[in-house]
Amino acid sequence: MGEFLNFIDGRFVKGCGERFANHFPATGEVIGTIYGAGQSEVDAAVGAARAALKGRWGRLSVPERVDLLRKLADAVNARFDEFLAAEVRDTGKPASLARHIDIPRGAANFNVFADQIQTTGADAFEMSTPDGAGALNYAVRVPRGVIAVICPWNLPLLLMTWKVAPALACGNTVVVKPSEETPATATLLGEVMNQVGIPPGVYNVVHGGGIAAAGEFLTRHPDVDGITFTGETTTGEAIMAAAARGVRPVSLELGGKNAGIIFADADFDKTMEGIGRSCFANTGQVCLGTERLYVQRAIFERITDALAVKARSYRFGDPFDTATTMGPVISAEHRAKVLKYYEKARAAGAGVLAGGGVPESAGCERGYWVEPTVWTGLAQDNAIIAEEIFGPCVHLSPFDTEEEAIALANDSRYGLATSIWTENLSRAHRVARQIEVGIAWVNCWFLRDLRTAFGGSKRSGIGREGGIHSMEFYTQLRNVCVKL
Ligand code: NDP
Repeated sequence: MGEFLNFIDGRFVKGCGERFANHFPATGEVIGTIYGAGQSEVDAAVGAARAALKGRWGRLSVPERVDLLRKLADAVNARFDEFLAAEVRDTGKPASLARHIDIPRGAANFNVFADQIQTTGADAFEMSTPDGAGALNYAVRVPRGVIAVICPWNLPLLLMTWKVAPALACGNTVVVKPSEETPATATLLGEVMNQVGIPPGVYNVVHGGGIAAAGEFLTRHPDVDGITFTGETTTGEAIMAAAARGVRPVSLELGGKNAGIIFADADFDKTMEGIGRSCFANTGQVCLGTERLYVQRAIFERITDALAVKARSYRFGDPFDTATTMGPVISAEHRAKVLKYYEKARAAGAGVLAGGGVPESAGCERGYWVEPTVWTGLAQDNAIIAEEIFGPCVHLSPFDTEEEAIALANDSRYGLATSIWTENLSRAHRVARQIEVGIAWVNCWFLRDLRTAFGGSKRSGIGREGGIHSMEFYTQLRNVCVKL
């Protein structure tokens, strides 16, 4: 049984918030107790973060911070198996997946932003003055201050360090509120912070729920200077409202209902490999995943049949078993939500080509399992095509022309990502420019260069993170004008 304590000012503390059980999603078993932070622990964490800014951390040079970030990456890698086990127990995702994505990317984020901060400059302008002497303007980048980091449960370590690493690279301090479903890796990272000599108060973790709990206490705290959030769109709206008080900046990476577009000239095998992953990886709990697929009519049947075969090919079971290729969803509550959509699809008369229920295989008697599901036949305005389900499911619709595919893909309030599959290069560029999203992939999916802009359009978010864009959020420019 694990005990997940708050990490404040370099020490693990219990807390006066709600105590709740942590479950292993594959079996539903209770595997630990989470000690929620109350208002007083959130106050202490924000106070410690403020004090750290004024202490030794605030006086470190960029090379000194870079050195510490590299040590963090090395230390996470040195404790790889511990992080891996913690992530798998919290999420139920297959260890084979977390071994290749969650933990290595979680560590790599520290190196990526250690590199980035060393090459990030700022403006410099010379100007003429009426007396002919001239003036020099240059900008310096200063940290924003205390950053609240609020994270979801689908890729806990990866998405948390995606924010913590650039925040620390830029000289800020952070208070992290992980999802109450996945407290483990954020807590373990506290130990690593102490181990490599990050000063107390630079990295703090408060546990608990969002509403009327640690999440709200943190986002409403008047001494927080900026909020970076990844999660659902409705939560993002609440956080944006909280940030308005005190005029604090927000970076919001929110939900999606991403469309894949497959043209008849696409390379069939490569498309099926990429699209299959985009629909079902991480049991469909990826913000960038595909839940709407538009397929040119000539190959519609071939693609739907192949995707149904793919959906039926997954092996459920113990996430630590290397033969397991799909885990459960995160919680009983999320399973109920996904199954409700499965029921809605059936009631609306969808063609169910694969799945649609709960797997009956051995090992799935307990825990939060759902079947990978493939539907056809619903109208574009159906909830299954309009709303984010965040499960291993996809609806396919046929289209005839390029214009029609673009219009269907853009017919959504979300605008996070798309993937376009075609061997016609001109068409690929043409379509990519017209889809209203933050990220358009051509003949690939989830291929990430961490220097590039990451974020959503429409209701999928505000702002971009990654590379220089993270530096823009986690620093402020101070212009210095020197009369010569
Ligand atoms: P939620 O929005 O439910 O929760 C995200 C975090 O916010 C959790 O830590 C949650 O706490 C906290 N929270 C909830 N309400 C508040 C509040 N009022 N004030 C402050 N904090 C609050 O998202 P999920 O965890 O369910 O994650 C899934 C969602 O995340 C999907 O919509 C997905 O699309 C999106 N996502 C977006 C990504 C992107 O980059 N655009 C990437 C990954 C996921 P708790 O849960 O503990 O109550």
